[in-house]
Amino acid sequence: MPEKRGKLIVVSGPSGAGKSTVIQKLMERRSDLCFSVSATTRDPREGEVQGKDYFFVSHEAFDEMVERGELLEHATYVKNCYGTPRNYVEQRRAEGLHVLLDIEVQGAAQVRAKVSDAVTVFVIPPSLEVLRQRLHDRGTDSELVIQERLERARAEYVEAAFYDYIVVNDDADAAAKELDAIITSACCRFEDRKEYLKIH
Ligand code: ADP
Ligand code: 5GP
Repeated sequence: MPEKRGKLIVVSGPSGAGKSTVIQKLMERRSDLCFSVSATTRDPREGEVQGKDYFFVSHEAFDEMVERGELLEHATYVKNCYGTPRNYVEQRRAEGLHVLLDIEVQGAAQVRAKVSDAVTVFVIPPSLEVLRQRLHDRGTDSELVIQERLERARAEYVEAAFYDYIVVNDDADAAAKELDAIITSACCRFEDRKEYLKIH
């Protein structure tokens, strides 16, 4: 059978829903998956590593990446810019690896418009109250930023209707299992398996 291009998996959901936590667990479960590290103008949080969590860049450097067409998508989120480096995604997919993006809803809409077979997943917490608590307990954002992120979450929920799947992150291991199953089922679609039907 011909070498398959990897899938593009888009994961979105409100900040604090647990996307990073669930993705981390998912990466431990699958070796055919890689994570696309985004560029951002936001400051690193404690413990975040340059090139692993994000490529932390200046606003000027980010604008240059946009002008050079190096980003597959980009968006502004709570006063900072975020974007997905195009080359990495293309190269890994060509190697047959699935590439996972953790991006917000405006970026996901851009990807959906450009990549027709992208698999899109919206991760939510069991409730907005749980979300508030998680953002608070994470301890990485000020009360003002938490308030902005909660406001943004309300607007983002409307966008969930455009996604293929919803994962409710109550128990993180169970959520990772669901995401794993979504990727597996995407690989079993007719389009991906039809060569096997050519028996003559
Ligand atoms: P996101 O990447 O969506 O912004 P994080 O993965 O940073 O969210 O999670 C936000 C906070 O919630 C973190 O402190 C994380 O440890 C915690 N968390 C994530 N998933 C769960 C869960 N299923 N149950 C309890 N706490 C969780
Ligand atoms: P955080 O600052 O909490 O790491 O991320 C804030 C939001 O930006 C999250 O919703 C996250 O999914 C989103 N995000 C991270 N990287 C990108 C990216 O490359 N593009 C877009 N559009 N959003 C991103």
